[in-house]
Amino acid sequence: MGDFWNYKTLSLLCGLVGAAIPLSAQAAAFVAPQVVDQNVAGRNVVDQNAIAQNVVQSSPDQLFVAYPPAEHETVADQIFFIGTADPNQPVTINGQPIENRSSDGHFAPSLPLVLGENVFTLVQGDQSLTLSITRVLGEPPMPDGVGFADGTLMPAVDIARMPGELVCLSAIASPNAQVTATLGSETIALTPQTSVDLPPNSAVLTSQTAPVTLSATEYAGCTQPTEPGDLGLPSFTVQAQGETVTAEAPGRVSILSPTTFEVAQVTAAEGVARTGPSTSYSRITPLPAGTRAAITGREGEWLRLDYGGWIKAAETQISAASVPPRSIIRGISASQVGDWTEVVFPLQTPVPVSVAQESQSLSLTLHNTTPQTDTIYFSNDPVVERMDFNSVLPDAVSTSSAQYTFHFKKPQQWGYKLRYEGTSLILSLRHAPPNNRLQGATILLDPGHGSDEDFGSRGPTGYPEKDVTLIVSKLLRDELENRGATVVMTREGDDDLFPADRVEMIEATEPTMALSLHYNALPDAGNALESAGVGTFWYYPQSHDLAAFLHDYLITALDRESYGVYWNNLALTRPSVAPSVLLELGFMINPEEFEWITDEASQQALARTLAEGIEAWLQAQ
Ligand SMILES: [Zn+2]
Repeated sequence: MGDFWNYKTLSLLCGLVGAAIPLSAQAAAFVAPQVVDQNVAGRNVVDQNAIAQNVVQSSPDQLFVAYPPAEHETVADQIFFIGTADPNQPVTINGQPIENRSSDGHFAPSLPLVLGENVFTLVQGDQSLTLSITRVLGEPPMPDGVGFADGTLMPAVDIARMPGELVCLSAIASPNAQVTATLGSETIALTPQTSVDLPPNSAVLTSQTAPVTLSATEYAGCTQPTEPGDLGLPSFTVQAQGETVTAEAPGRVSILSPTTFEVAQVTAAEGVARTGPSTSYSRITPLPAGTRAAITGREGEWLRLDYGGWIKAAETQISAASVPPRSIIRGISASQVGDWTEVVFPLQTPVPVSVAQESQSLSLTLHNTTPQTDTIYFSNDPVVERMDFNSVLPDAVSTSSAQYTFHFKKPQQWGYKLRYEGTSLILSLRHAPPNNRLQGATILLDPGHGSDEDFGSRGPTGYPEKDVTLIVSKLLRDELENRGATVVMTREGDDDLFPADRVEMIEATEPTMALSLHYNALPDAGNALESAGVGTFWYYPQSHDLAAFLHDYLITALDRESYGVYWNNLALTRPSVAPSVLLELGFMINPEEFEWITDEASQQALARTLAEGIEAWLQAQ
């Protein structure tokens, strides 16, 4: 089934987006009216004159809307208006007074949207602002008469599969039609599918994760080619109401040879491996540089490797081979190198690996590896209580693998790294810090966003998240340094850093912990008046206890609301070298909370409490 929801992605305002992906494109939907934003090379290019004039409210009695922009398109069925005006006079929107304004006059009402254009006029005294919000269907286009909907013929990109694998073809076409596809010499009948799609992951943030039934009719069918070679472009035919329309899918289908191989070798420092051939698919354990595996499928710019993971071809070098890479493994040894235990797995070739971390253990799987292990040297280690070994025998679809599980002496894990040295895999396990105090600890602080290219989210006055994250990070730095910690900041000024730059600093610093500071916003359909409080985000189990502890500490000590503790696959939660947590300390778009966020005394109290929480967590280890 196609991932049709992606035809129109939700407009996400949240600071999280900027943290999650280098293209913080959607975050800058959060700009003032009259500001033109467009996406060039993944960055937000904003009209600088408009920013200078309209980025923040010019005077306390100016009627100001920070979000949405004057012209805005969304798939949401409602939208909030984040703005402010003279607190002593009413503001109306389409003639209705705006309720629930904060004492400074900020507002954030949500209003329903009909499909098509919605015009909203906000008025205070003799000031008025008009916004045009266009609601579009978050679904694929419908066919015009008898035919196919644009862009729905699958495969949309060139694909390659192994002989005997299913190749499925699909398209959205007119309802109540006869649809067939021809691939090579074979003609396949395509039948209507129950078109149910899942909302994007961001829908978790607004509790809208339920499956959605699409109104368009998707037709699909599969074949199972067995002969290697190029089958060309599938040709689709739709017949209805006496008319016949034919179209070709944009992607060619080819079948790989079962006996000659192409091998991909990872050239990126950490190859990004995923469960499927696009960035919509979940990440799995990154593949260390040097990893080699046979290619068993292709889809556009993606390669499927023989252990099941997908990787972008650009992160690999491809060569021909007469056999797929396989290894045996025998003796394994461990030694202590500085603050790390290094475990060396000698292999014949660098194989794909997977890591699964649990509360007091970590399992490493070496794929395409057949154990001949009889002896393991592992004794008197500061962190590891025991190492277990397990062989996984091949079945019809997979080869042998070797699994090693490290059981730790204490529940808290402090970080791990994987690398290949020649054909030997090195797993490094971090030792606990020498004491449970801030003295001797290195805390990395990452103030979210930065520069005119990345404002993050914006409050009712237009005040940007990037400024408050820096202010609070500096206050927190001072609090931590006063308590004896060493603090490393990813930025001290209004610097333009990509998430990858921040991650590099974490990996180079190897801190005791890494904290990324943000303030929150929501997708259009969210409720800004009812969303408030502290959210914390973690990815590896080694970061969960810290995330949950800091979350509870802040909401209790400061009497803040709880937005919750989230598992989230974000650039700044993904470093494995140290417990890494991303904090969303409040909602920029909530009128009341925005006043707390920008209040100097509250910022100092927040920094002090956060430093206390970090210290208390360290002491509890
Ligand atoms: Zn942010």
